[in-house]
Amino acid sequence: MLSFVEARQKVIEVITAMRPQPVHETIDLPRAAGRVLAVPLPADRDYPPFHRSTRDGFALRSMDAASPGATLRRVAEIKAGSSFNRMVPAGECVQIMTGAPVPAGADAVAMIEQTKIAGDRVTFERAATAGQNIVARGSEARAGEELLAAGMRLGYAEMALAAQVGAARVEVFATPSVAILSTGDEVVDVADQPGPFQVRNGNGIALETLVARAGARPYQMGNAVDEVAVLRRAIERGLEADVLILSGGVSMGKYDLVEQVLAELGAEIFFDAVAIRPGRPAVFGRCRNKPVFGLPGNPVSTMVTFELFVVPALDILSGMTARPLKITGARLTHPLHEKGGMTHFLPARLDWVNGQAVVAAMPWQGSGDTVTLARANALLVVPAERPDWETGEWAGVIPR
Ligand code: AMP
Ligand code: MG
Repeated sequence: MLSFVEARQKVIEVITAMRPQPVHETIDLPRAAGRVLAVPLPADRDYPPFHRSTRDGFALRSMDAASPGATLRRVAEIKAGSSFNRMVPAGECVQIMTGAPVPAGADAVAMIEQTKIAGDRVTFERAATAGQNIVARGSEARAGEELLAAGMRLGYAEMALAAQVGAARVEVFATPSVAILSTGDEVVDVADQPGPFQVRNGNGIALETLVARAGARPYQMGNAVDEVAVLRRAIERGLEADVLILSGGVSMGKYDLVEQVLAELGAEIFFDAVAIRPGRPAVFGRCRNKPVFGLPGNPVSTMVTFELFVVPALDILSGMTARPLKITGARLTHPLHEKGGMTHFLPARLDWVNGQAVVAAMPWQGSGDTVTLARANALLVVPAERPDWETGEWAGVIPR
């Protein structure tokens, strides 16, 4: 059985090989959050475009205040957005605000908090050093330099940068469409009243949320009952999207028909089991040249396997390289003893206590326990190779 790392790598390999020719479109910047750049974003000018003061204070020649206690004459003031168009003369200083250009002649800015002002006389309590409190023109980036490469997803910092360089419209890759099909005789719509042994379709909406969060376009297909003909028709429809995700019907039960129907449709299955808990029976295949994921129906399994295997696929189909799994470390507040040979992903609380990240697994009822997952803010990763952990050890955590 593949480890989750191997299974994830398999997804990356297969999707990279089958990725179709990408389609570009040009859209207004405010609509581009979460989209992937199709062309690099260059700097329109130097950044900063001028020697920028990082403090409210006084621009001066550092040699004029080389030792504490120097007094200089204030001759002018510069607000952010304006400038002082003469050299700062020896023995003088110019009051300056944060974000204003440091005038020629001056090579330091002294913080206003470290001065005494009496009329136009300013006394500097500390020695000035060349370059202090100034960000030099072009030190962040040079005009024409590539700021963001093609294939970068536009998060908030990238959006700010795009706005900064005046990219009012940006060229991005088309967003992949993802069909979401739940399966199960017992599954009813959210708006319906379930019978005593039925469940509402939580996975459909969870997958819609996950797909949108991953930057792709969800297409909700609702639920198909566990009958070959019904499932087959629904799967064929789902294959019109760029990716098809199913939930349920991939375990060993008599009515777990997803793999059988995919096989009838000529699918190539790359894996149908991964050494993880929850999520062991996860299926990944290709059918009619579309990637298909058959995720286990237990809701926690569905969500965990989406994060592990579907996110990298959607990244690649969106035009970027698959983002690495965001695993951070935190100190365990309790010991852990899990079954070896498979990697466990346990609902957990991640916290910050006394300057340290700490994490605790939550008591739970297994892979059907959405209640606990919703109260958790992280998944604790217990590796297949290391099932036993002591309090105080640093464990892997995936914030969610
Ligand atoms: P399955 O993977 O089809 O064997 O289903 C495993 C468990 O997940 C069963 O308890 C199902 O009732 C439950 N389940 C399956 N599909 C869904 C769904 N769409 N929403 C919520 N629970 C589901
Ligand atoms: Mg089922």
